[in-house]
Amino acid sequence: MTTGTVLGAVTAAPLDAFLLETSAELLELKLGPRLYDRLLERAAALCGSSLGLLLARQEDGLYRVVAELGFCDADLSQVALSEEALQAAAPFDAFKPLSALESWTSLRGLWQAEASLVIPLSYGYAPQALLLLEAEPEVATLTSIQVFSKRVATVLQHAALRSEAERQARESALLDRLRSRLTTELCLTTLLKIATEQTSCIFGYSRLSIYLLDNDGLRLACEHGYRGRAAAWLDPAKGVVSRVLKSGDPILVRDVRQDADYLSPDGKGVSIIVAPIYRGGTLLGTFEVESTQKPLTASDLRLVVAVAKELSAASERSRLHEAALQNQSRFKLLAENMRDVVSLHDPDGTASYVSPSAVELTGYAPQRLLGRRLLSLIHPHHRVAFDLSPEQFASRDLAPFTFRLRSASGAYRWVETTLQPILGENGELLQLVASTRDITRRRHVEERLEHLAQHDPMTGLANRTLFMQRLEETLDHKTTDPKHLAVLLFVDLDRFKLVNDSFGHSVGDALLAELSRRLLESVRPGDTVARLGGDEFAVILDNLSKNSEAKQITERILAGLKRPFEVQGREVFSSASIGLAFVTSASLSPSDLLRNADVAMYEAKKAGGSDYAVFNEALYDDYKRRLSLEGDLRAGLEQGQFFLTYQPLFNLAERKVAGFEALLRWRHPKHGVIAPDTFVPLAEESDLILDVDRWVIKEACRQMDLWNARFPVASDLFMSINLSTRHLGVENAAGRLAGMVRVMGINPGQIKLEVTEGSLLINAEASARVLAGLRSAGIKIQLDDFGTGYSSLSYLHKLPLDSLKIDRSFVQRMGGGRQDEEIVKTILALGSALGLDVVAEGVETAYQLKRLSELGCQYGQGYLIAKALEAPEVEARYLTVRDL
Ligand code: C2E
Ligand code: CA
Ligand code: CA
Repeated sequence: MTTGTVLGAVTAAPLDAFLLETSAELLELKLGPRLYDRLLERAAALCGSSLGLLLARQEDGLYRVVAELGFCDADLSQVALSEEALQAAAPFDAFKPLSALESWTSLRGLWQAEASLVIPLSYGYAPQALLLLEAEPEVATLTSIQVFSKRVATVLQHAALRSEAERQARESALLDRLRSRLTTELCLTTLLKIATEQTSCIFGYSRLSIYLLDNDGLRLACEHGYRGRAAAWLDPAKGVVSRVLKSGDPILVRDVRQDADYLSPDGKGVSIIVAPIYRGGTLLGTFEVESTQKPLTASDLRLVVAVAKELSAASERSRLHEAALQNQSRFKLLAENMRDVVSLHDPDGTASYVSPSAVELTGYAPQRLLGRRLLSLIHPHHRVAFDLSPEQFASRDLAPFTFRLRSASGAYRWVETTLQPILGENGELLQLVASTRDITRRRHVEERLEHLAQHDPMTGLANRTLFMQRLEETLDHKTTDPKHLAVLLFVDLDRFKLVNDSFGHSVGDALLAELSRRLLESVRPGDTVARLGGDEFAVILDNLSKNSEAKQITERILAGLKRPFEVQGREVFSSASIGLAFVTSASLSPSDLLRNADVAMYEAKKAGGSDYAVFNEALYDDYKRRLSLEGDLRAGLEQGQFFLTYQPLFNLAERKVAGFEALLRWRHPKHGVIAPDTFVPLAEESDLILDVDRWVIKEACRQMDLWNARFPVASDLFMSINLSTRHLGVENAAGRLAGMVRVMGINPGQIKLEVTEGSLLINAEASARVLAGLRSAGIKIQLDDFGTGYSSLSYLHKLPLDSLKIDRSFVQRMGGGRQDEEIVKTILALGSALGLDVVAEGVETAYQLKRLSELGCQYGQGYLIAKALEAPEVEARYLTVRDL
């Protein structure tokens, strides 16, 4: 229904701005309905859709609807997809029509879109969430959506981690707070009240209650949120509590409707947790948390159990405590039963008692601490906090002290101390009871939170937020000092998707982490290295002494990334393309700079990757043109704007034509005939290349079949067809491609598929399997551009091949000295050792042709012999006359 795209054939600027604005806005939001709603709205705007769903992965591993668009009042609460269902319908990172979603039964009847787009939002391994939109976007938009999905997945991951860390921080703060209140609280009733109030206030639970066992059953001791409607008495033989009392274990009922034992006070409960409270080994009662909105989860259970445990310990302590304050030996009994360090101090701070657990916290035996003022163990920064008058110390509601304490080893630990005065008859301060606990872990969680807000969780590098901040700072610097020299590097990995597809996401993730370390090793201390998302990184080199320093560092980075990586016991190769944008003017915006570096990166990638390029205005013009081409590509394919030309290949010994290489051309309605170097790399960025190549195979086979029928000589000739390595990642690629050749009714032995070396070797085993499948169907395989890839000769014999094609750069070097022939000679020797034919491409001079024949090269191709020709010319020149 909606096929429009908001961006259409975009220029880069609005898309960049859109993405930046979206990430910036979403990063501000916490994980929850608002974030989900905005994310869905943004995605819908990008794809021009008015119907959409966002499903997020829940704690139980199922994906449920968290935001909807255009569904009015439909009940979406029953929609739940498993990860398997997701995987079966849409391999992650793919965009599929909903016809593939037959297995998503829970959506049946609800999702009525004509054309659907499934966008998994995955950051690490399994997707965090899934966008389902009614849309049929154009190719240009698909690329934007891919970028969008990468960005928002990062945002979601970040929000999820932040919310978990926040929860942990709140949880440990609550437990510490409870612990310090409960340690010194004497009265059981007050104690229970504190626990319910604090737990509700910090975690926002709507209903809490505590029941204590007495002779008749369970009596309500205190409640929060029931507004007097909680039952005053419960039958211990009935309801969920009966199961808890019987088993002595806590119980979480996620959905009370599913639980026959649930007794509702007023029918409003959705989910409940009941945990037992003990006193010295015997059951004292139960602690209950009931939710009236969201289902409770395992992390709620963990928290409630922790609070119940504190209550158990505190109720035992409260009994001892009463006695303890009158009796030193009883006090010791209490102190020695606690995990906290309990100490008694004279009003001047001198310790008169220190509990045994001090050894763990401080490394000192308690005796060594007796008679000392202990102030010397406190970090100098924190000492002032203890500078209080005896009257202040005598106050009953002194806030806890948080400070760093030096242990015997000299290391500092974060601790929290609660002080409780023991007063004489006249209210004078006699002694102070201190209970001290280690909160180093909690501090770490808090620090981690701060770190998280600005760093990428997978690699530990700066994230986009921090990166943009630093970029602003660099630009500020440029404003105050126009001579300030800085550069922005945009680093994009070459063929990372292939690594992910062939080895799986866990290898991909591990590789990214390894790679980040290499990046850090290559820059100077203090340089900012950030992960922008997916396989994109960025670096700011600030305060450079001269331009050439930027290039030196860039080359160091490239060299570092080229060394093989050892990931999960495998050797993985990687390389990157880097774009440099110098901070030439303070009036540039951070997003301009980032886009410029991105544009330059593309230039480096175009030249084959593992290289860098520096931004200039001409590149930007190119970039704009490319974006509009990208949009025209699919239309071009559908509207028959493509055609093939055929370049003859000669048998050098027999001096006869041996076959042709099919070379693609695009007759663009505005730009005229365009060479494949311009558009094939664009098509390779999406799955469009698969359709393009399939069209080429059909067309070339059709032509060959026609020639076979019309010209007797034709059946001895072969047809070479270029095949993008993207096919090797497609399921059942061999079967599919061989099937196409078979359907065209042509002898498969006449077809040669040319694949390039580089990406084959990333996963040699998987590639070998596909190629072997093709060969067993009779199709020949040729390695194109040989010598320019990884040249991992050790893999070569494992690949099922028929021939090698020497890259034209080596052929064109022939003609100077002897040195220039070495590579060609080596390749010829290699070919003969492996029993492979060798083809030389790019033969432009008579000398090259002569030397190649002398050296025993079987086939030659090049402008000297013939350029690529259209079919009628091929027929006239080669199919009626066969000699050179
Ligand atoms: P390639 O496979 O290396 O193809 C050979 C390229 O070298 C062709 O350029 C050809 O015209 C050119 N060439 C031939 N003889 C000479 C010579 O003597 N000197 C020089 N300097 N160049 C010569 P073309 O047609 O522009 O194709 C460029 C590339 O585009 C191809 O490189 C191939 O990688 C890709 N390509 C072409 N057609 C297809 C296709 O149908 N599918 C796919 N996936 N890629 C294709
Ligand atoms: Ca080729
Ligand atoms: Ca080639």
